[in-house]
Amino acid sequence: MSHEADITIIGAGVVGLATAARVADGDREVYVLEKNETFGMEGSSRNSGVIHAGIYYPEGSLKARMCVAGNRMLYELCGAYGIAHKRLGKLILALTEEEIGDLERLLGQGQRNGAEGLRILSTREMKELEPNVEGLAAILSPSSGIVDPYALMRHFVARVQEKGGRIAYRTEVVGIEKAAGGYRVAVEEGSGRFSFFTRVLINCAGLQGDRVAELAGIDIAQAGYRLHYCKGEYFSVSTSRNGLVSMLIYPLPPPRLTGVGTHLTIDLDGRMILGPSIQYVDSIDYTVDPQHRQLFYDSVRRFLPFVQYDDLEPEMAGIRPKLQKPGEDVRDFVVRDESDRGLPGFINLIGIESPGLTAAPAIAEYVAGLVEDQLG
Ligand SMILES: Cc1cc2nc3c(=O)[nH]c(=O)nc-3n(C[C@H](O)[C@H](O)[C@H](O)COP(=O)(O)OP(=O)(O)OC[C@H]3O[C@@H](n4cnc5c(N)ncnc54)[C@H](O)[C@@H]3O)c2cc1C
Repeated sequence: MSHEADITIIGAGVVGLATAARVADGDREVYVLEKNETFGMEGSSRNSGVIHAGIYYPEGSLKARMCVAGNRMLYELCGAYGIAHKRLGKLILALTEEEIGDLERLLGQGQRNGAEGLRILSTREMKELEPNVEGLAAILSPSSGIVDPYALMRHFVARVQEKGGRIAYRTEVVGIEKAAGGYRVAVEEGSGRFSFFTRVLINCAGLQGDRVAELAGIDIAQAGYRLHYCKGEYFSVSTSRNGLVSMLIYPLPPPRLTGVGTHLTIDLDGRMILGPSIQYVDSIDYTVDPQHRQLFYDSVRRFLPFVQYDDLEPEMAGIRPKLQKPGEDVRDFVVRDESDRGLPGFINLIGIESPGLTAAPAIAEYVAGLVEDQLG
């Protein structure tokens, strides 16, 4: 690594890589620093792989805007570069008469956000599409789909390298100091500790985003940046059930949008996967508790009656970096330049939970604007 960079990005998850691919150009020194041995070993490979439409999030929020824009950008990108994906469509179900009002409210929310092609289906219309699913009515979201997150990240890695950007693995950022016109960044890598200067520093550190902000001297309690870990487990459904459902199937989301409800996704091999569950945890542990099988079975059997208890096997888990504690109202993504904290050119991305995979290309575009404001 040279001792001077124009732009340094901390974290090689999908958001850091999309951002690096967007801001790299032959004339700038751009670095991505990643503490793990390769890219995408954390949140970006432990998710549902769903291309969300942008239905759930409060109108005008970054989550809503970036998700709706990211949805379109992602399909274009996948089409142009042959990244594995499928536009499966999705149903959000009302299971009781009382839920029909909630479904209509959610439809209004999604339409105000600009999610494409949403409409309500009657029981008959829903059954025509998905005869093996139970429900009284459903929102049809034709622009929801799935993508291979790993293939998407590989695409961004290739773009970064093509444009002359460099990705350093096994390189952990351990210190950030304000210097004239930029930042002195201390890193630890195999051969020891060293530091270098960068004009712009972008924090895409996922679960460690709050700690990285703290390294730069931000009081994270006062800024409202402290992250709370929220684990989501997945169970797979026996492959003997493959083909019984063709779309993504979701119940209505739980109150306060802690998640979007234990749902059914279909992976690119046609396997059905249930999850993610919601459990706040104190530490990062990706094991799936086999005893949670009953909870999964109970949460889906009302709308997926063909699923039997013995069909379910532990699959994997991911951890969401949430800005809100249990019971608190949903918080928006933080994506901001910290000039007003005396740290111009330090750009924080914190609380990038779902729909961060979908939103990644749109977040990258937004961050590129913040970078231009600094570098001109
Ligand atoms: C259970 C679950 C399900 C989800 N489902 C969906 C979905 O279906 N659709 C969707 O759109 N989104 C979904 N998401 C959200 C999506 O996965 C994330 O928003 C996205 O992957 C975040 O990417 P990231 O690059 O910000 O973070 P990460 O992928 O977590 O990357 C951060 C990187 O920073 C590195 N890092 C941290 N600290 C340092 C340091 N000090 N020095 C160097 N490197 C460091 C880490 O090692 C890591 O590689 C889901 C998330 C979860 C957890």
